[in-house]
Amino acid sequence: MNDKPEKFIDENGLRLDGRQIDEIRPMTIKIGVLSRADGSCYMEWGNNKILVAVYGPRELHPRRLQKSDSALIRYRYNMAAFSVEDRIRPGPSRRSTEISKVSREAFEPVVMTNLYPSAVIDVFAEVLQADAGTRTAAINAASIALADAGIPMKSLVAACAVGKVDGKLVLDLNKPEDNYGQADLPIAMTQDGEITLLQMDGNLTQEEFKQALEMCKKGCLQILEMQKEALKGKFGEDAAIEVPED
Ligand code: UDP
Repeated sequence: MNDKPEKFIDENGLRLDGRQIDEIRPMTIKIGVLSRADGSCYMEWGNNKILVAVYGPRELHPRRLQKSDSALIRYRYNMAAFSVEDRIRPGPSRRSTEISKVSREAFEPVVMTNLYPSAVIDVFAEVLQADAGTRTAAINAASIALADAGIPMKSLVAACAVGKVDGKLVLDLNKPEDNYGQADLPIAMTQDGEITLLQMDGNLTQEEFKQALEMCKKGCLQILEMQKEALKGKFGEDAAIEVPED
């Protein structure tokens, strides 16, 4: 069945879900929702529902995988079987393996793994309900869960996607925009604007790509503010991320 909308943006410049082209979906953040994990976060972003648990730093087994000068980060992105209309087959897929890899790499430049030789930091991101942008939502939640676990980081990481529909760039794609749009560009960045993840599907001109980066940067800055507010809500005003000496 093809349920591609005829138009994605109406005559008033609004999208199918009523948002402006540069508006992100509403986000709610709950920290420390899992008592067994060292850090955790439950996030709703639009219709996405994501739960992230962080364990570690803890000793890595088997020992032959240990790195003598730093901790290993493991990141597992997983969609629950019931998270989308068609049941997702349990277990890793090409897509989940790719998302896990790029998401791990989005954190490697910021997590101070050098402080924990021979250790492992495990990030489990579970998508309970998916509605486009789950990799970026999971990264936003993982960033908070890592902070909740007290893991030293040079910066939080925020992520969102820009896409193109009806020939126009739009921020934070919803499901129809993601499925039927002309481009999808998920990006993650630090608070200094250092890009730690960039993927792209579809086509953009060089000029559109530059505009998309700017749009995404604004989205990520808003998300960073929400992440910081949520952390301050749990840990108080002193929740500023402390960067220990190397
Ligand atoms: N999706 C789905 N079945 C799948 C994979 C994805 O229904 O097996 C949906 C889901 O809503 C997801 C969206 O398609 O959020 C877009 O998937 P994509 O691979 O672009 O990743 P995402 O945007 O979620 O990071």
